[in-house]
Amino acid sequence: MKDSRWASIDAFAEQNRDNVLRDISRLVAVPSVEGTPEPGAPFGAGPRAALDKAVEIAGELGLDAFNAEGYIGWAQTGPIADGQKFLATITHTDVVPVGNGWDADPYTVRVRDGWLLGRGVADDKGPTILCLYALKYLKDSGISLRYPVRALLGANEETNMGDMVYYEKHYPMPVFCFTPDAEFPVCNGEKGGFSGEIVSPRLDGVVVDFEGGVARNAVPDRATCTLRVPASAIHPCAGVTVEEKDGLTVLHAQGKSGHAATPQGTVNAIGLLVNCLLDSKVCTPQETAYLQVLHTLHADTAGKALGIAADDGLFDPLTIIGGTIHMEDGVIRQSYDCRYPTNTDGDKLTAAMKAACGDAATLDKVHAKPPFYIEADSPAIQTLINTYNDVTGENKTPFTMGGGTYARHFPKAVSFGPEHLDLPLPDFAGPMHGANEGANFEKLIEALKIYILALLRLQEIDL
Ligand SMILES: [Zn+2]
Repeated sequence: MKDSRWASIDAFAEQNRDNVLRDISRLVAVPSVEGTPEPGAPFGAGPRAALDKAVEIAGELGLDAFNAEGYIGWAQTGPIADGQKFLATITHTDVVPVGNGWDADPYTVRVRDGWLLGRGVADDKGPTILCLYALKYLKDSGISLRYPVRALLGANEETNMGDMVYYEKHYPMPVFCFTPDAEFPVCNGEKGGFSGEIVSPRLDGVVVDFEGGVARNAVPDRATCTLRVPASAIHPCAGVTVEEKDGLTVLHAQGKSGHAATPQGTVNAIGLLVNCLLDSKVCTPQETAYLQVLHTLHADTAGKALGIAADDGLFDPLTIIGGTIHMEDGVIRQSYDCRYPTNTDGDKLTAAMKAACGDAATLDKVHAKPPFYIEADSPAIQTLINTYNDVTGENKTPFTMGGGTYARHFPKAVSFGPEHLDLPLPDFAGPMHGANEGANFEKLIEALKIYILALLRLQEIDL
């Protein structure tokens, strides 16, 4: 490491190991899944309490800290004058629900073989504490900052990012921001997102019920369909089991789940049922026409059958999946989640989907958010990637992804660590959002050093 500041950064991080662990544990101990809005707690009492805790910790570290009506908070290295250019980091203090499969209390941080275990240690309470300590370093060192730094503390990242919507409306934007809420090294582009529902007309045929999927952004591994036909009318179909129940026939499909952003290798359970119904030729013409539309959706995850496949050479090719299906009052709604590169757009995608629907289905809740991409050779991105490589001794390059982080809410932002996807999880630890969520403590301390050095080097470039 050839940087005169390294010895001091390294010493600071090493001296604060126990403090970092203690403060991550304090923040994890405050459950913060989104709940019912209350006065002063727009995302529920949990996210508000965790935000308060983070602001409290920031204050203890000697930082100026602020809570913006419970929507979002921040800590900063010092006062920021009106119109002054400043840098920001953004992390979040809300978490996803605990789910099943934990070996111990999810809200009590455990340490095992160098790994921290607990809900939020990786996503994103651990990184939140790292940002606060990075700012503490900047403040304590007394270095005069050309760009003061604000560590934004989100409270609604996991669901709607209402925290950033609020911030955008009321407060000034940083000249550059990075979000430690993804993986290293640097992600300088995120695909566009296109989502909606394919809605059937009111059906009055043989399909009595159709249910599948748990999340719009995941390929479902289970789906069921109830029919007013004898079981003997159903063709044998791979992945589908047939059951007679109360004079009706129930089909159960078993697929293979996965994230909408990376659907390669998944098997969509809804798609299995659609194929089975069409192969069995048991539905009415109206139902069949609607199922044909779903068949086109589920035919492949690259959008080839829909005629929307796209590849721009910057991002991975377009993906599309059907996430959930639900039937109510004779109307079936199939959600879809598409991640698209820069050489297509929401209008083109909407037109193609409408063409696929014809008059057999309609679209509802159509929403498109454009991709964002920052040139990998821009000075800010180069500063981050070079800092990462200098500290780790690696030789990585920026990457793009299909997921969506806070970054797209800023004029100029990227995600920057702290996960290492190439570091295998031990069998007692789980991924972000999973049971026994784990974060490697050495890597967190290394990330703290990377963030401090990056914030110092960003001071030296024109932003
Ligand atoms: Zn996160």
